[in-house]
Amino acid sequence: MRYISTRDKNTSFSGAEAILRGPAPGGGLLVPESIPKLTAAELDALAGMSYPERAGYVMSLFLDEFTRPELTDFARDAYGPAKFDGGEAAPLRKTGEGENFLELWHGPTSAFKDIALQMLPRLLSASLGKTGERRDACILVATSGDTGKAALEGFRDVPRVKILVFYPRDGVSDVQKLQMTTQEGGNVGVCAVNGNFDDAQTGVKEIFSDEDFRARLGGRGYFLSSANSINWGRLAPQIAYYVSAYCDLVKSGEIRRGEPVSFCVPTGNFGNILAGWYAKKMGVPINRLICASNENYVLETFIKSGLYNKRRKFRATLSPSMDILVSSNLERLLFELSGGDDRLTARLMKRKHDYRVPDEIRARVAETFRGGRCGDNRTKEIIGRVFAEKRYLLDTHTAVAYGVLEDYRASSGDKTATVVVSTASPFKFCASVMEALGESAGGGGLDLIGRLEKLCGIRAPEPLKALRGKKERFTGETEKDGMREIVREFAERG
Ligand SMILES: *Cc1c(COP(=O)(O)O)cnc(C)c1O
Repeated sequence: MRYISTRDKNTSFSGAEAILRGPAPGGGLLVPESIPKLTAAELDALAGMSYPERAGYVMSLFLDEFTRPELTDFARDAYGPAKFDGGEAAPLRKTGEGENFLELWHGPTSAFKDIALQMLPRLLSASLGKTGERRDACILVATSGDTGKAALEGFRDVPRVKILVFYPRDGVSDVQKLQMTTQEGGNVGVCAVNGNFDDAQTGVKEIFSDEDFRARLGGRGYFLSSANSINWGRLAPQIAYYVSAYCDLVKSGEIRRGEPVSFCVPTGNFGNILAGWYAKKMGVPINRLICASNENYVLETFIKSGLYNKRRKFRATLSPSMDILVSSNLERLLFELSGGDDRLTARLMKRKHDYRVPDEIRARVAETFRGGRCGDNRTKEIIGRVFAEKRYLLDTHTAVAYGVLEDYRASSGDKTATVVVSTASPFKFCASVMEALGESAGGGGLDLIGRLEKLCGIRAPEPLKALRGKKERFTGETEKDGMREIVREFAERG
């Protein structure tokens, strides 16, 4: 299977090369040149498998330089009990008629990013061998909070890899910040950026497209790579949990074989929900993909109108991992829905502030996607209400999705069984969750973890509780303009 650039179809790479590279040269993203299909018989067979076997199977269809046993072994390591609490990476939790939560946050950093970022280091290390790459990888990450920690944890002390994370100084929760600044490992670095997530992400993208800079790093024995969801190695493991959720719904009798389900996904960079679209294209019976936004609802507007306009005020919300105005992975969807029109994709992506897609593409978006938004007050109301009614505690991001699903069901009358993709543990966002439950979050910080545990009678994830004893290692900060210099120093440090 070859991977082609969304902005130039003649540029192509193997799967292993795509994983090492991250984005395509010239600013595009890499997508598989065709989408493999899963037959009904294969879906039946997958239903009888464990999660690592399902993940190995699905990924092997996209990454043919890797064998299925090899990928299944990676998945056993990545998703085993040593990494995922309870030994289950993507359990479904039924909370009502046709209402299920796909809990993707039982991994080491308590957010769904672990599913991809426990796998990516294994894929990347193997790709170094498969391609004969002699240089070492220097991975740059821009994070809205959760990717950074998950990537640090996934890549820590991985041979031949260094990883540097940039996060927006005032854009992450106390717990998220401490998770990153206390990171252990000899090959890691963390730096705050004075700006928001889009500033950090743009800064990283600029460094990637600076050929002179890359050449200089190359001279020192490094190539740049990415652990953001612009790397196909993050998308492939995510497709597996959509397939797996479908299998589990059939297995539990919640739906019949072949009956469609919908997914409602709290969305930021469009990586999670895009994996759902690929699963649908592979043949998983998915009806709607409902894209949930917070007050930064650039995607809701896009899905409803075909207009993507990032020139708007950036709002810091209670769901910081969705505070994004430039949703990178939408580029992949536009390329796919335009029938692989690289020139159109390049033209739209190069516009500075906004673009409008042609009507045919807008219609194709509307065949599958619905968009909605949920503001901070309602997010809190939902956390309080769902806990009171179901004794089920949502984090702020998952609550946004739940609110958007309620609206969608009320306005459409659609009763298709639906899975809300649950992306973080509520204990990552203690202050907001406490307030949603009507308690004061005075004092903030790590004390809230214990208070929230007592209040709800739910155990917090161990790695979050363990933050208390950890020392802060990384207190550096930079302006956006200074990011390149930080990367250079980091790469040159022994
Ligand atoms: C990253 C993240 C999201 C958004 O996912 P995308 O793939 O960027 O759309 C939603 N919720 C949480 C908790 C996250 O960490």
